[in-house]
Amino acid sequence: AAVCAASVYIVRRRMQSSGKWARVIEILRVLEEDCATPIAKLRQVADAMTVEMHAGLASEGGSKLKMLISYVDNLPSGEEHGFFYALDLGGTNFRVMRVLLGGKEGRVVKQEAKEVSIPPHLMTSGSDELFNFIAEALANFVATEGEDFHLPEGRQRELGFTFSFPVKQTSLSSGTLIKWTKGFSIEDTVGQDVVGELVKAMERVGLDMNVTALVNDTVGTLAGGRYYNPDVVAAVILGTGTNAAYVERAHAIPKWHGLLPKSGEMVINMEWGNFRSSHLPLTEYDHLLDFDSLNPGEQILEKIISGMYLGEILRRVLLKMADEAAFFGDSVPPKLRIPFIIRTPDMSAMHSDTSPDLKVVGSKLKDILEVPTTSLKMRKVVVSLCDIIASRGARLSAAGIYGILKKLGRDTPKDGETQKSVIAMDGGLFEHYTQFSECMESSLKELLGDEASGSVEVIHSNDGSGVGAALLAASHSQYLDDVSE
Ligand code: BGC
Ligand code: MG
Repeated sequence: AAVCAASVYIVRRRMQSSGKWARVIEILRVLEEDCATPIAKLRQVADAMTVEMHAGLASEGGSKLKMLISYVDNLPSGEEHGFFYALDLGGTNFRVMRVLLGGKEGRVVKQEAKEVSIPPHLMTSGSDELFNFIAEALANFVATEGEDFHLPEGRQRELGFTFSFPVKQTSLSSGTLIKWTKGFSIEDTVGQDVVGELVKAMERVGLDMNVTALVNDTVGTLAGGRYYNPDVVAAVILGTGTNAAYVERAHAIPKWHGLLPKSGEMVINMEWGNFRSSHLPLTEYDHLLDFDSLNPGEQILEKIISGMYLGEILRRVLLKMADEAAFFGDSVPPKLRIPFIIRTPDMSAMHSDTSPDLKVVGSKLKDILEVPTTSLKMRKVVVSLCDIIASRGARLSAAGIYGILKKLGRDTPKDGETQKSVIAMDGGLFEHYTQFSECMESSLKELLGDEASGSVEVIHSNDGSGVGAALLAASHSQYLDDVSE
């Protein structure tokens, strides 16, 4: 019943099930079965998600879903103005940017950004090393500040810090790291105030800046999305990792003991990547991938949805086929044994190959695995694997979004109401893996049904998290009183 995984059946039917191929087809069949996401299963996942959302909001540690309080109780109004910096640390790259905000009329008047890739060894060494590197890149960027970005006399520069890992916030501008995710594992940062770590590093490089807001990328994307579209109620990241944030009614957060915000609302960072449930379709490959990962037992949903892992799942299936069914011939290509050698962008390129002889698939397998030749039949199997693995991730993302809409009571059209619900999306997987995002959107429509899907819209909030952090820095500026004069 999976609308997005149609090619598989065709391949299976056309293949002769004898000898080596019988085993290949058997592995393919089992994978397909274990990854199956019929609509009834997606509904179970969505329901389990809403149950866990309630539990995570009820008490600290009440659920695998941390439902973190962001301290953002006011989303951008459009009035924000002034000159702010933003820093976005999350996946494999980090970005520094400065924006000039012109208020309702001007919006983002000017924006400059620089992307820096993080040397891989810094993701697993010491906290000081990582934060020094970041602070230095930021200082270099500040040094290139031009005339256009003018700071009134005697003012300190202000920064919105997007930090895309689970943080227990202690205020809008401080919070301790709960754990690293994705490719990061730096023990001495865990439990530390990440703003403190950044500030110390800025002092070491002689950079004077005030960190005004600390936000998750989902929260930044929500803020950036809302700035342009008042109907944005949630944000989802489908990138190296995956996560969602949404606007909750403050009185629906029993674990919040602070003052009731004036707006009556609070943005919640769900950390949905850590969701797990008996309803999740998990395979032998997922269990082994998890076991071998930097964070075993954690981020289970993330490990079957997000960009860091999809290509690696594909590699593991191909390795089994090579090992047990001589898929690539008598010996296993040595490169196939290297973890993470198949990247999700490569998988996406193979998946979207429309040439009759699957030329792209052939050349990718040659480049990455050093397999000189592959038959069309083999290439078709590879495309089927991509389809099965990506469709599962895409459909589960849709189920998660549907779960949020259910929690908000926005999953069915209300009588006489024309309320619109917009989901701001970002991340490389969403942006660049077309089959994935199309499957996610069609599955969401399938879940919502014809009537309700008209009131739900998914939009791409391009680089929203950086602008969002700058906007939140602006609305919480230490000079706010001067600014509004
Ligand atoms: C992190 C989240 C983040 C997501 C997307 C996950 O691994 O735990 O905090 O929002 O990746 O970047
Ligand atoms: Mg990002």
